[in-house]
Amino acid sequence: MKSSRRVHVIAATIFVIANIWFLLIGSHSLATVDGVYHRVRKGETVWQISRAYRVDMKAIRKANRLPSSMRIRAGQYLFIPKAEKVIRIESQDSQMRYILRYGTSKRWKYIVVHHSATEKGSKSVFDRNHRNERHFRHGLGYHFVICNGTCGKKDGQIEISQRWWKQLNGAHCKAGNGNKVGIGICVVGNFNNTRPSRRQIDSLVRLVTHLCYEYDIPVENVRGHGEMPGASTECPGKNFPMHKFKEALRERGCR
Ligand SMILES: [Zn+2]
Repeated sequence: MKSSRRVHVIAATIFVIANIWFLLIGSHSLATVDGVYHRVRKGETVWQISRAYRVDMKAIRKANRLPSSMRIRAGQYLFIPKAEKVIRIESQDSQMRYILRYGTSKRWKYIVVHHSATEKGSKSVFDRNHRNERHFRHGLGYHFVICNGTCGKKDGQIEISQRWWKQLNGAHCKAGNGNKVGIGICVVGNFNNTRPSRRQIDSLVRLVTHLCYEYDIPVENVRGHGEMPGASTECPGKNFPMHKFKEALRERGCR
């Protein structure tokens, strides 16, 4: 091989490796064009965070409208402007870490929220119904179920469907290609008659915040089933507090 050709081959190889590296590392970071979001861990200070990213403390406080007297709290998201060094950000929430470990697919563009339209329910109850009545080969059509304290489950408990573990298409929303590109979450209850419990909403916000960060899904793509293009359904029910829910996501730094 001629030496100039060899140089080209080496350069091309380095280019490919650099791109793969960027894809692997970049996909786990919470990078945006002009900064990153950081979820504050227990005991962390603005000073520590500013050191970790090599960004001036004042710039962090300014970007987050944090007066110098205001303390930060665990779980809060801070925007780190022009962060040079992107550190691997791991949530302290062990259940969420467990959930995100299975999420290998990059196709998730939407999060679709449903109600069960039943008073009671759980993953196994809906799974049986979807298998036996609706003949879904993979059973439960959703990726997650958020329980309401019925069928032996706790109020606010998040159950994970095998569709999530296997990263399968959902069977919850044909509209807007929702089954292929949407993560389906079912909140147990009929919200045409009642409202979701505080614990259900807390769990939903917690789960969706993590999913939005991991898959870079904007809040506008977090939809109630009926908000998907072409859908004609009241799901997740006329009493579902959609506006408040989306506000809570934005408060947590979802874009
Ligand atoms: Zn629905």
